[in-house]
Amino acid sequence: MGFQQVLSNLKLDQYITPSGTLRVRSPLDGEEIARIGGTPLDQVEKIIHQSQNAFLKWRTIPAPKRGELVRLFGIELRTHKEDLAHLITLECGKILEESRGEVQEMIDMCDFAAGLSRQLYGLTITSERPLHRMMETWHPLGIVGIISPFNFPAAVWSWNACLSLICGNSLLWKPSEKTPLTALACQRLLNQAIHHFEAAPEHLQQLLLGNHVMGEKLVDDSRISLISATGSTRMGKTVAPKVASRFGRSLLELGGNNGMIVAPSADLNLAAQAIVFSAAGTTGQRCTTLRRIFIHDSIYVQLIQDLKKRYKDLPIGHPLKDRTLLGPLIDASSFQSMQDALKKAHQDGGIVFGGKRILEDKYPQAYYVEPALVEMPEQTSTVRSETFAPILYAMRYSNFEEAISLHNDVAQGLSSCIFTSDIREAEIFLSARGSDCGIANVNIGPSGAEIGGAFGGDKETGGGRESGSDSWKTYMRRATNTINFSSQLPLAQGIKFDA
Ligand code: NAD
Repeated sequence: MGFQQVLSNLKLDQYITPSGTLRVRSPLDGEEIARIGGTPLDQVEKIIHQSQNAFLKWRTIPAPKRGELVRLFGIELRTHKEDLAHLITLECGKILEESRGEVQEMIDMCDFAAGLSRQLYGLTITSERPLHRMMETWHPLGIVGIISPFNFPAAVWSWNACLSLICGNSLLWKPSEKTPLTALACQRLLNQAIHHFEAAPEHLQQLLLGNHVMGEKLVDDSRISLISATGSTRMGKTVAPKVASRFGRSLLELGGNNGMIVAPSADLNLAAQAIVFSAAGTTGQRCTTLRRIFIHDSIYVQLIQDLKKRYKDLPIGHPLKDRTLLGPLIDASSFQSMQDALKKAHQDGGIVFGGKRILEDKYPQAYYVEPALVEMPEQTSTVRSETFAPILYAMRYSNFEEAISLHNDVAQGLSSCIFTSDIREAEIFLSARGSDCGIANVNIGPSGAEIGGAFGGDKETGGGRESGSDSWKTYMRRATNTINFSSQLPLAQGIKFDA
């Protein structure tokens, strides 16, 4: 399916204009594929005001009915799965199979949220006072501002949008400036669902298209109750204090530096498969990409040899082609960061395998690279920082406790895993003295989470949780209610106050 066909199927032609200020480049060949109009900064005030009005109406619709809108959105996504997946690939460069996975994740999120809309329950709590009842109720929060990155241009928004909508909130979305077409497509599909759903107010979800300045507008506005920001730790370090300074709520999903321990008893074939998918897959551009492996001395040489062979055989190329497993990096600056990190790692004593630019003759303006495997003598500062590219640093270990301590000795705390057949090692890794990450797996790589669990990580990853489990609570406000049905007025803690 070509770009024009995708635009037409998703009815996006109307947004393309030669005078548009936002230039969209496809990482597939580096060419400009469209110009669209950004949101004028002087319109933001009006948009936020509209969003406030939408919230006031939407919060009064019963939650299960709100869930019906999300269910309808899921139907639109099912109908346009192939179109949206193609657009994601064209705009952010991931292989079509993974883009389909991204849309499937959105569909799963719709199903999950539709069911959850009947389960937004609070507790009843025994009261210390006779003939009293205590309970908690959950109420809609307000406007939710979503700031999203380029690498999951649709799914990150949908995690936030599906939950926010059933929770009774209105939405303002500032997508990555690198992927505005995918955002427009999502907005259109949601609008189509809204069209079939009479109870939805106007302006329930609106887009703010532009660069970080647009994001700052949301961050600084005290009418936005929750800022859900996904992106680099650098971005989070700017956003978090600003939101806190106005006592807003923030949900931060920031950078990762995900590790794996491969123990002597590991199934090495399984470990190697998981390593290649999670370190090289998506061209290393997932927040959960595997970036560090700690391999036991006794199996180090064998596993490294196997990985090099697998890396050499990886089909890298145009991500719309069937057999391709690795597409391009997003842009030139991403390629430059990768080369800088490899140079530094080499200076630190690392032995670099792969990492070179390829297909330059065919695509002079695009950045296709071999994934890099770097054998490091120790965990240097380069290893400890996230480079958003396919670089995997391999290190040896001989003592299990030392491996855990090295694993945790980074600023980020997103995803982690161990490959072992030793139940004690597995349980220790998952225990309080094991991995300090928000996601910890056994015999599964660190990337490719299911939506049913809470997703997110601690330390410089930001501490936010979204998607499954009880993440919905971040999108609502909690009230504790005490009801007196006696004819007395007993005070808590037995205090006497006979005025
Ligand atoms: P980025 O931080 O450059 O941009 C993310 C978004 O933040 C963009 O929409 C950008 O315009 C906006 N932004 C940047 N500075 C801002 C500011 N000062 N105020 C308001 N908005 C601002 O990230 P990216 O390059 O698009 O994405 C890659 C990064 O995202 C990686 O670090 C990756 O680990 C992280 N990521 C994290 C998760 C997660 O769930 N933890 C998921 C996906 C990506």
